[in-house]
Amino acid sequence: MKDLFIDGNWTDASGGTASDVLNPATGEVIEKVAEAGREEVGAAVDAARRAFDDGPWRATTATERGDLLRRVADLLVRDREELARTESLDTGKTLGEGRIDIDDVTNVFRYYADLAGKDAGRMVDAGSASVVSRIVHEPVGVCALIAPWNYPLLQMSWKVAPALAAGNTVVLKPSEVTPLTTIKLVALLEEAGTPPGVVNLLLGTGTVGAAMVEHPAVDLVSFTGGYATGEKIMTAAAKGVRRVALELGGKNPNVVFDDADYDTALDYALMAAFVHSGQVCSAGARLIVQDGIHDRFVADLAARADRIRVGDGFDPGTETGPLVSAQHRAKVEGYVESALREGATLRAGGKRPEGAQYESGFFLRPTVFSDCTRDMAVVREEVFGPVVTVERFREEADAIALANDTEYGLAGAVWTSDASRAQRVAGALRHGTVWINDYHPYLPQAEWGGFGRSGIGRELGPSGLAEYQESKHVYQNIDPVPQHWFKG
Ligand code: NAD
Repeated sequence: MKDLFIDGNWTDASGGTASDVLNPATGEVIEKVAEAGREEVGAAVDAARRAFDDGPWRATTATERGDLLRRVADLLVRDREELARTESLDTGKTLGEGRIDIDDVTNVFRYYADLAGKDAGRMVDAGSASVVSRIVHEPVGVCALIAPWNYPLLQMSWKVAPALAAGNTVVLKPSEVTPLTTIKLVALLEEAGTPPGVVNLLLGTGTVGAAMVEHPAVDLVSFTGGYATGEKIMTAAAKGVRRVALELGGKNPNVVFDDADYDTALDYALMAAFVHSGQVCSAGARLIVQDGIHDRFVADLAARADRIRVGDGFDPGTETGPLVSAQHRAKVEGYVESALREGATLRAGGKRPEGAQYESGFFLRPTVFSDCTRDMAVVREEVFGPVVTVERFREEADAIALANDTEYGLAGAVWTSDASRAQRVAGALRHGTVWINDYHPYLPQAEWGGFGRSGIGRELGPSGLAEYQESKHVYQNIDPVPQHWFKG
């Protein structure tokens, strides 16, 4: 099990520790992978440090690094089907979604390949003909990149592509639940010609992640995952005042006005809440529907949710797959119970699907609750499963107040045929992404990230590259003469 990649070598864990990777649709073990110990964490960070401080990597130009990322994108295209299948097997998502993920990963590599060569800093007008002043962008140093399990390779690509484009060296740690495609990506980075030590791979649980963050030679931690983990990481990174970029959870409002295109809003409400069984940071898990259409909308939503075909992601008839683990399903089921206790009305789902084919996997039916109020845990907290809650509103101002009444602020949507209202509401929402008459699209060239407890910093777009750069001001006096500030 030589799954760890340190200083250009594939290696086993020195302690011989390994962990099982499961297929969420069957509960079966699909692979055993090595699990790093403290020794490997130290070796990986040290290798990244050396490669940054002394290796040939520092001498590469941005254009050369862009070329490297472009070669990786080509290899991703070559291995698309294998990667998509592995991602689906590991996460439970449908094969169609797995393919979309790998195409998205490829686009992210291509975007940062292009941006790398274009980012030449800028000239500054110093207000004097005898001064040349410019801002140059330099890499931050050694970056620890820690990813979650819902979009394993995609979330990692949002980090690794800009980090390398900017000239950093990196230590990657995918989620222990879904490590397989990241192992493959590192092999592709090696094949594309990344010098030893520039990319290192560690596998294991949060203990490995915590050891990475605590390592004093790490200059920046970029983390995507839960709020509680983000808080711990920020606390640990405070020691030594290391930089952090945090992409955390969300509780995302999907606001539907009476005048929205009814069928389209309904169709997207289902997709927003139930794609990948709701295990999406931007899931539209909190529907906020105007009075005039509310009752009909809830009834139609529940009827359609009941028809969603849940199953193994490799079955062509499957529309959404299982939850990622038994433990995660138990957490989501806990929210279903709390919603019932707190007085929400169950309109669809709320239980596991019946049938022999579902028995060993971690399935849960798409679930709709109506009569929800903002004080319920299921409305306030991130459930991260196939559960949508519906709240009702009368006036535009009420919708805005509800949509902003969350500690999170990752994403939200507004559905209306009134263009002015669409812009007004989008302007008022305190969320990092607002969709108007759409849900879920994201673009590599547009910033992604959260207000409030949804995180710090931005991934994607030019800001996603800036996260991995230091700005340096170089100021040259081209005609220096004594100034006689002091007269003596
Ligand atoms: P998680 O916080 O449990 O784990 C994420 C990663 O952090 C894993 O690799 C884990 O091993 C590691 N980790 C755990 N404890 C650690 C510690 N103390 N120090 C360092 N690393 C540690 O999250 P998860 O359950 O894997 O992912 C689900 C969460 O991710 C949800 O909250 C979701 O909203 C969020 N997410 C956010 C975005 C976004 O763009 N904002 C995208 C995807 C997922």
